[in-house]
Amino acid sequence: MEPRPQLSFEDTSVAFSYKSDAELKKANLIFSLVNHPSISKLATSSVKFAFAVGLPVKSIIKKTAFDHFCGGETIEEAEETIQKLAKFGIGTILDYSVEGEETEAGFEKTTAETILTLEKAHKSKHIPFCVFKVTGLAAFALLEKIQAKEKLSVIEEAAFEKAKDRVNRICAKAAEYRIPVLVDAEETWIQDPIDELAYAMMEKYNRTEAIVFNTYQLYRTASLQNLKDSHAVADRGNYYFGAKVVRGAYMEKERARAEKLGYPSPIQPTKEASDEAFNAAIEFCVEKRDRISVMCGSHNELSNLMLAQLLDKYGISHHDKRFWFAQLYGMSDNISFNLAKAGYNVAKYVPYGPVKSVMPYLFRRANENTSVAGQSSRELILIRKELKRRKA
Ligand SMILES: Cc1cc2nc3c(=O)[nH]c(=O)nc-3n(C[C@H](O)[C@H](O)[C@H](O)COP(=O)(O)OP(=O)(O)OC[C@H]3O[C@@H](n4cnc5c(N)ncnc54)[C@H](O)[C@@H]3O)c2cc1C
Repeated sequence: MEPRPQLSFEDTSVAFSYKSDAELKKANLIFSLVNHPSISKLATSSVKFAFAVGLPVKSIIKKTAFDHFCGGETIEEAEETIQKLAKFGIGTILDYSVEGEETEAGFEKTTAETILTLEKAHKSKHIPFCVFKVTGLAAFALLEKIQAKEKLSVIEEAAFEKAKDRVNRICAKAAEYRIPVLVDAEETWIQDPIDELAYAMMEKYNRTEAIVFNTYQLYRTASLQNLKDSHAVADRGNYYFGAKVVRGAYMEKERARAEKLGYPSPIQPTKEASDEAFNAAIEFCVEKRDRISVMCGSHNELSNLMLAQLLDKYGISHHDKRFWFAQLYGMSDNISFNLAKAGYNVAKYVPYGPVKSVMPYLFRRANENTSVAGQSSRELILIRKELKRRKA
């Protein structure tokens, strides 16, 4: 049996080994600023204003928050990050993070760009997955209408056919190159058509291995059962099942919409309920591991530890390609780097795209790292711990 080093997420010297002192100080500044709700709010509205009136803020953002959370503006620019992560055994998932370009030309551009990430992955040993969002390939309003079972116009029918073709082109290329592709999960009121597209692709391309992964948001009360049901369908259909397991990113929006429109919230009643469902989903995947591949997409230390311990409990190799851990670039390095050091399969989502187009992604990261109770965020505590260690 391979040696199994004790896993700890506390070792900041491992977590930040890829950051120079200057980079770590910059990270400290970024997280200190966003930690204060008022400064964070002021900074995000000033940046929005600056872009709206054309002030030259791009270079300062590019050197600070963008540099911390993103790989670059293009795939070529992301190469340095890919290599940096690879040096520590961490894979890159190139995430073309341009949002809100709701035109047919924009959808085609995103399709072509996603295929370029597959081309890049095909040539690189350090890109184990590719990823896309269906709203990058089809209009949100169209997906909403389909889910609501409203009648589509002829133009809308044609637009949906084009969207299906885009999804198929990406998955076909993924299958050709044998690079697994993750279909991100989105809002519940458009998720049904996304699931249907993902399942059709799984059935088509997961015949000999998991190429297409659907995403399960365990903050949804329905997700654990959905995961089990779709696994059962895959089992009966004789194809492999790929699952990215996450808690879910749209909680406030989901609850607000449910309240506004007067339907029961689709979200778990408490954080504990989301945690329990998340951990149960991971356990289910490990137990049914014969023809499942799973990615634990989480910054929660206990959930990551749980999967790591389950692999050990069942004597599964840390390198077993059915089990992956993933975090976002610029976040939870204590988890990613310590898992990779212990030999587990780890990858980071590395967003890229033009600075201005990636801003909504950066605003979400700022919001997520803003303290509500006047305490420092986990990221900030770890960065400061490492700065102190280096100084000593
Ligand atoms: C690699 C990766 C891929 C991802 N892909 C997707 C994706 O495709 N779609 C998507 O929606 N998100 C995605 N996410 C984001 C993810 O869903 C979470 O928002 C984020 O990671 C925070 O959850 P956590 O597991 O890291 O841990 P934690 O910080 O422990 O949990 C925070 C999460 O718990 C849930 N939660 C918090 N409070 C409550 C409450 N009161 N009641 C119920 N639930 C609560 C919410 O989901 C919240 O985001 C991804 C994250 C990663 C790292």
